[in-house]
Amino acid sequence: MSLQSTLRRIQIVALNRAHAATLRGLGKVREHRHCPLCGWTGFQFSAGKPGPFFRFDARCPSCWSAERHRLAYILLKDSLPAKIDKILHFAPELEIQKWLQGSCTEYHTADLLDPRAMHKVDIQDMPFEDNTYDLIWCSHVLEHVPDDRRALSEIRRILAPNGIAVIQVPLWGSKTLEGDLPASERVRVYYQEDHLRRYGKDILERLSMDGLSVSVRNVQELELQLVLRCSLNDMASNDVFLLRKLA
Ligand SMILES: [Zn+2]
Repeated sequence: MSLQSTLRRIQIVALNRAHAATLRGLGKVREHRHCPLCGWTGFQFSAGKPGPFFRFDARCPSCWSAERHRLAYILLKDSLPAKIDKILHFAPELEIQKWLQGSCTEYHTADLLDPRAMHKVDIQDMPFEDNTYDLIWCSHVLEHVPDDRRALSEIRRILAPNGIAVIQVPLWGSKTLEGDLPASERVRVYYQEDHLRRYGKDILERLSMDGLSVSVRNVQELELQLVLRCSLNDMASNDVFLLRKLA
C-alpha cells in the first residue's frame, strides 16, 4: 500500500469517527429540554413574545407554557393539598388549567376582560361570599391592578380558612416603583405598557397582612440541571408567594 493511500485511509477513518461523535452529541442535545406540564422534549423551547425583553428558550412549543408556569408547577405539585375542594383561577392560563382542574372538585375562572372566564369580576371588588375558595391562583395579575392592596384584601376575604393563594408577579430590584405614568414612560420604568407598577423584593411587606401567613418558594431551591432542562429561570419571575389564611 502506497504512503498516499495509507494517509487517505487514516483520513477517512478520522472523518468517520468525527462524524459519529457529532451524531452522538446531537443525539444527546436533541432532547435537551423538557416541559413537565405536557411532557414535550426537544432541543430548545421557543422564544418568548417579542417586546422589550425578548426571551430565548422560554415558551413550550407544545403547550405554550412559560418559565413561570413550569416553575410554579415543579415547586408546588407535591406540596399543595392532595385534594382541593374549590379553586379560583384569575386570568386563567390555559397552560396550567388542566393541572389545576385535575387537582380539585370545583374549578372556577375569573377575569375582568377575558370572555372565556366563568366569572367577569374586578379583583378589587369581588361578588363572592367570604371564605369560599380553598386555592386562589393569581399569576402576573397584580401589576395590572390599580389598587393591589385592595385586591389582596379581597383575596384574603374569599379564601377559606387554611386556604392558600398562589401569587406570582414580575419582580425587579429591592424597591417597588409605582405612580401614575403615561404609557410610554411605563415601558421604560415598569418594563411593560400595561403595568401600573414594578414590584421589588419589598412586595413581602404588602403581602404580609393580618390573618395571613406568607412564605416564598424560589427557583434556587431546585437543582441547576433541572432549572436548565425545564428552562425555569426568567430573571423577573423566579419567586412564588404563598399566602395561607389562618384558621
Ligand atoms: Zn409543554
